[in-house]
This record gives sequence, C-alpha cells and structure tokens, in this order.
Amino acid sequence: MRQLTCLAAGVLEWRDVPEPRLQADCEALVRPLAVARCDIDRFLVSGTFPIREPFALGHECVAEIVALGDAVRGLSLGQRAVLSFQVSCGRCGRCRAGQSALCERMPVLSDYGMQPLSGVEYGGVFSDLVRVPFAEAMLCPISPRMDAVALASVADNVPDGWRAVAPHLRARPGAEVLVVSHGTPSIPLYAAQAALVLGAGAVHFACAERESLELAAKLGARPIETDFADKPGRFPIVVDAGLTQPGLAYALRATEPEGTYQSVSFYPGPPVPLPLGRMYTLGIRCAIGRCHAAALLPEVVAAIESGRLRPQEVTTRVVGWSDVREAWPEPAIKLVARRD
Ligand SMILES: [Zn+2]
Ligand SMILES: [Zn+2]
Repeated sequence: MRQLTCLAAGVLEWRDVPEPRLQADCEALVRPLAVARCDIDRFLVSGTFPIREPFALGHECVAEIVALGDAVRGLSLGQRAVLSFQVSCGRCGRCRAGQSALCERMPVLSDYGMQPLSGVEYGGVFSDLVRVPFAEAMLCPISPRMDAVALASVADNVPDGWRAVAPHLRARPGAEVLVVSHGTPSIPLYAAQAALVLGAGAVHFACAERESLELAAKLGARPIETDFADKPGRFPIVVDAGLTQPGLAYALRATEPEGTYQSVSFYPGPPVPLPLGRMYTLGIRCAIGRCHAAALLPEVVAAIESGRLRPQEVTTRVVGWSDVREAWPEPAIKLVARRD
C-alpha cells in the first residue's frame, strides 16, 4: 500500500509499504477517506523535532472500516468513523476517567504520525490502510449523511479547541472568552467556534495574522489585531494557543483576577518562564495538558451532527489525495485531502 512518508526535513514521498494486519480480536483496519493536516504536522515535517528516520505522516482522519476483529462490538464493516489520533484502550482507569491521552496500557505520546515525538511508529493516516489497536475505544462512528471532509480534523484539532473552553464555560456559563492565536492556525479558531456554540457571552480573538482575524470575524468572534506587545483587556477565560513567548505573556496579562488561563500550546525546547508571583497574587488559574481525543469524540461528533458546531467553516483548502504532497507547503489554515 502507499503511505505518505517524511524522509527528512521538508522531504515527503509516497512509499510502498506492507499492509497492516489485524493482530488481535479487538482491532480494526480502516481506510482513510479524508485527512486533515494538524497544526503540528508542518512542524513535524520542517524538522522542529529531530527526524532520526523516515516516519509515516498524518493523524487526523475520517475512515471507512474494512476489517474487524471477532471481539469488536458496536461497529460494522463499511461504516465510516472518526479515528482518535491517540492510541488508547478504553478500559484502563485513565481511559475510564476520560483521560485517554494517558492510557495506562500505552507509552505516553502513542499517536499516529508522530514518530519524531514518541520514538514509536504507529503508522500515519495518509495511508491506504491503518491498524486500529482498540477499535471500540478509538473509532467514533459518524452518520452516513455527514461529509467526511467536514469532519476530517475531528480526530484532534477540533476537540482540542472544544476542550479548551467547554469545562470553563460549564463552570462559568455565559462568561466572555479571549482566544490568543500565535502560531497554531486552526486550534484557536476551533476554540472560538466552540465557545460561541457553548454560550460564551462574547468571544474575542487576538492574532497578528490577517487571514485568521478575518475568518474569526466570519465565525462570529470579535477580532483583535495585535503584535502581542500591547496591553490587552481582561477576560475571565483566556485560551493560549500558539508557540511564542510574547503570545503566552499576552494571554496571561489578559486573564482577569480569579480567571482561567487555558494553555493548548506546546513549547518545545528549554523551559519557559512564568510570572508565578503575579499569577499567585491575582489568583489566576492555570489549566494545561493534552486533548483526550478518544474520550471527547462522542461529545464533539454529537455537536457537529446536531448542526451546532461547523468545523468545515475553518477549512480553507481541500485537495485530492494524489495532490497532497505538492500542496503540503501551502500555508493554509486547515488543509484537507480527500481520497480520489
Ligand atoms: Zn495533531
Ligand atoms: Zn487505556
């Protein structure tokens, strides 16, 4: 089968590799139908994290189920489903507590398409077939009337945006939300969308990029153009989504006393300083951590199927399967490849 493979920084190639096979009766094989480029994918390919050997690319997809182990219940051949980008069993204590990113049966960072981060190759979803080690836990079926392209990013970035605001708006219904976008293009827009769906009093979107600001406004957020050096207003819920220290500092300055600062940012490299004295004095609550994809999928898919959440409005570019290698360097906010 063909698999989009990253050979070295900036070098992608379709490679012929052996087809995966079912290895246990709780597994599935799926054929990706629509694959989205995650915000971290461009950094994986650019060599931000050392590339020691070729790795399979891609971890956000909607796929068709083509094989199922004998013990799998509740799924059927031919069904389409969102595949959790993280490998998790669904049965251990962490999984049952909704912390599927920390599944006790798998090493940390057991994700598709992220070998440079985890050191383990689980395969990538820019492939003709993908092995799913725990089918019931990792596959969330979608309605036959839903468009696979519309849901392509639901495996990771869409629930990442959702969980950045959902618990905080549950605790403070109707609160205003500020999303600070500084380097990861789609997650902050999904967070703004989710905040609007979940009843935020208003959603503000701070960013330096014109295209993101315009899209945020179209989604219903109030755009704030900033270089992150100026003085922001104060907000009860602030989402920090990006890669830069000025963006992080801006988000913290914008969090009101006893407010919540939520980080969905990944800061590689040396430790990043935090103004803990000020955070202590003002009672700023800091929430940080990875998205628990498998645990979140049913809730997020339900919001999309009801028509409330429309992730397709963040998609800025759709290409054919065979064109994805050439399209990869494009700076699209959300690039999706559709199987031809
Ligand atoms: Zn991702
Ligand atoms: Zn588990």
